[in-house]
Amino acid sequence: MDKILFNEENIRPAEIFNKYLELAKEDISSFFHEKEKYIEVDCPACLSTRKEISFIKHSFEYKTCLDCLSLYLSPRPSEDMINTFYKNGSSVKYWSTHFFKNTAEARREYLIRPKANEIIENVKKFLSSSNNLSFCDIGSGYGILLEELGRHNIFNNILGIEPSPALANDCRKKGFKILEKTMENIDYDEISIDYATSFEVIEHLYNPFLFLTSAKKIIKKGGIIQFTTLTCSGFDLQTLWENSNSIYPPHHINLLSFKGLKVLIERAGLKVLDFKTPGKLDLDIVRNAYIKNPSLISDRFTNMLCNSEINVRNNFQKFLQENLLSSHVSFIVTPA
Ligand SMILES: [Zn+2]
Repeated sequence: MDKILFNEENIRPAEIFNKYLELAKEDISSFFHEKEKYIEVDCPACLSTRKEISFIKHSFEYKTCLDCLSLYLSPRPSEDMINTFYKNGSSVKYWSTHFFKNTAEARREYLIRPKANEIIENVKKFLSSSNNLSFCDIGSGYGILLEELGRHNIFNNILGIEPSPALANDCRKKGFKILEKTMENIDYDEISIDYATSFEVIEHLYNPFLFLTSAKKIIKKGGIIQFTTLTCSGFDLQTLWENSNSIYPPHHINLLSFKGLKVLIERAGLKVLDFKTPGKLDLDIVRNAYIKNPSLISDRFTNMLCNSEINVRNNFQKFLQENLLSSHVSFIVTPA
């Protein structure tokens, strides 16, 4: 079999991704038409009330916090509206059937397997003991990470939290114990975890603060939570801004800044042990948007970057990673 390349096209193929975006648009009219139920919120990261409108996308208002520069949806649909959407939305279903199915092997090879290896390294780096360890993936999806970790003899107990019944079932078929709930509804006495992960969850949530404080409650003393999210402080989001397919309502409603994320973590009673922006796709995403529509990139330098040789593009992406300038951010935190 040919080696699958790691690029935007293999991680989110244009044809399938466009169909998904179309369905997301239809979901907006089915699930989010009752605008009178929307709630005006302050910055979900730093709680500042100072904000200004950045842009309107598909009738949703994105605001920028004037204190921490986070980008967030406000007014936003109520938590109930969001939960109903995640249960029944056709774009959500399409994501878990077509999208995941078609990208599963590329994701396994380029995203999940390296994540499993990183987790094993992190155990040595950040946990004081390596005996009788428990692991939990919050939002375990199809359970690919659980499977990959199961190949290693590092955790005695591997658990997933997955509110979607269909996905939870898939994980169970693979032999994993799954709590079919949202993080905020977990019975905290039920589990006690050394290492929890939450990949690309925070950008979707009505209340990221509640999520982090809930996650903290399942962590043992000295345990860690590793989470990733999209940050508006990174290259592709800054460059494409309202034209970015990653800033997409109603799915992505918190694009918190790097500074905002740090404030949020501290407010939740957590301490940062490590952070980085390991994203690999910023320039590829900008370049694909540019190829599709050159008028999107008016900046001459970025224009030149998009037309540069592959080694220059790879070096530039490495520079973004090393200088906390990618839109994909990863934190390791522990109860303070
Ligand atoms: Zn803020």
